[in-house]
Amino acid sequence: NHMDVVPVYLEKWTHPPFGADLDDEGRIYARGAQDTKYIGTQYLGAIRALKASGYKPKRNIYVTFVPDEEVGGHLGMREFVNGDYFKNLNVGFSLDEGSANIDDSYHIYYAERTPGIRFKISGSAGHGSLLLPNTASEKLNCIVNKLMGFRATQVKKLQDDADPFIGVVTAVNLTQLSGGVQSNVVPPLLEAVFDMRVAIDVDIVAFEKQILDWCEEAGGGILLDFIRKDEYVPATKVDASNPFWTAFQQALNELNLKFRPRVCPGATDSRFLRTVGVEALGFSPMKNFSIIELTHVLISICMVLRLTRKSFQLLPVYKA
Ligand SMILES: [Zn+2]
Repeated sequence: NHMDVVPVYLEKWTHPPFGADLDDEGRIYARGAQDTKYIGTQYLGAIRALKASGYKPKRNIYVTFVPDEEVGGHLGMREFVNGDYFKNLNVGFSLDEGSANIDDSYHIYYAERTPGIRFKISGSAGHGSLLLPNTASEKLNCIVNKLMGFRATQVKKLQDDADPFIGVVTAVNLTQLSGGVQSNVVPPLLEAVFDMRVAIDVDIVAFEKQILDWCEEAGGGILLDFIRKDEYVPATKVDASNPFWTAFQQALNELNLKFRPRVCPGATDSRFLRTVGVEALGFSPMKNFSIIELTHVLISICMVLRLTRKSFQLLPVYKA
């Protein structure tokens, strides 16, 4: 569970963001209620209920509250899992945040896509009245066209998918543009940031090479700055070879709940756990919800506790 939240824009709130207002339908409005205060709350509630029932787990259960997830987790979970304290805990399995789903099934995240590249594009500089060769804007135009062409293939792939979900394709979006000196000067440098979430079946090395080739085709002189770039992270197995998956699946089946293993569209702390060999699943027990609604709403804590309690009863029977 991460403790940090994203910034508050007061004018967008119908309730005070730090007030934790409860409405007549049992919804709590509070900053970070969904992402991810309720996850930590559900685990503490489940552990308390299990202790009260006299349940004794075969393995230790730890609950973590870490900072910095919203800004990449490098000084939060990544630092934590690489320290001796974490190694000595001998952790085999982790449950972390998932996200809400709009239909009546739960999404279980077992892998993630990887983000973001900044292109620093240099070119000939000079007076705006000239037609100089190799300007930064021409190179930028070329890069944008290449990446938007690739984006179109991913849109098509998603449209053609029988069970479309954004996690299976690579998302590419131009998110920031900067540069320029003044209106009549051809600038020596322009910067473009593309948010890229690379699908897990893409060969990252080949994909990077493709981008470098496009930079050369554009005329060269382009520096790539990978933002929050992580090494390749293996997916958690969602088949019979993973006893934790089997136990989790069994818990959901016994409760007659519909679920689908998915690739998480964004990045979470689970990737750092997977990197050090811990099996990790992302799960937020909320269905029939839109994500927008969930930016500040917490609902149905009773269901969350019931489900978590059941999972916790089943998970520790396995000796991994
Ligand atoms: Zn989160």
